Amino acid sequence: MLKRTKGIVLRSTVFGEADLIVTYLTPEYGLLKVFAKSPRKVKSRFGSSLEPLTYSRISFLGKEESALPRLTQSDIIRPFQALREDFRTFLSLSEILELNLSFLAERDPHPEIFMLLLTTLSKIEGTGGNALLYLYYKIKFLQMAGYSPKLDVCGTCGDAMLQNDSAVADRRHAFCLPHGAVVCSRCKREGDASMSLSGGALRFYRSLLQWNSAVVDRISAPESLLSEVGDVIDSHIRYALGPFRVSSRKYLESIPS
Ligand SMILES: [Zn+2]
Repeated sequence: MLKRTKGIVLRSTVFGEADLIVTYLTPEYGLLKVFAKSPRKVKSRFGSSLEPLTYSRISFLGKEESALPRLTQSDIIRPFQALREDFRTFLSLSEILELNLSFLAERDPHPEIFMLLLTTLSKIEGTGGNALLYLYYKIKFLQMAGYSPKLDVCGTCGDAMLQNDSAVADRRHAFCLPHGAVVCSRCKREGDASMSLSGGALRFYRSLLQWNSAVVDRISAPESLLSEVGDVIDSHIRYALGPFRVSSRKYLESIPS
């Protein structure tokens, strides 16, 4: 049965002599892997539409249960070529693509995650992107995919971490990696892998979660808070992925030239 959808290429992996397996993020099917026959041959009808980040309208053919349907058509809606051509930007974006590939299951639709990626790519292409935009993406992605770190209450006893009393709110907190949560001083155990986090960083994280993506590129945030929250989020992601994590370098090497 022929199906149509729109999708953003997350990865293209060489298969056999001249074929590719292309993984898309789509609104209707979530992660979707398709098989593209001989796209690397000269004059392929797919042209450059199978390169990572390309947003296309696609058709694919396969039985309902087919694990690897065949791509029959791919028409570019937006190439995002500028993002691929700038190495630094592409390296930062490859981390984002990897998040999708690692945390999402095939054929499990999350239209809001698709929209988040599309909006983020458009913003980065329009503005060049900044640390806040990447951090915002990661935080919203983890929230939508159900992997948010717990930073509002103690991960063990459930006590609220940010009190109105500023003396309490301004002290440092411990983010415990195995729990994926902050823990209060009473629950913290010696030897737990943890990172120190300020009350200001907890408040910043909370406001980031509440921001709408339309306003995020109009806000400026202090460098110190960006790096503090960024470090915790990156460590949380690495911890959640564990040994299955693929490094960005390995990811880049997998992209056919
Ligand atoms: Zn506690």
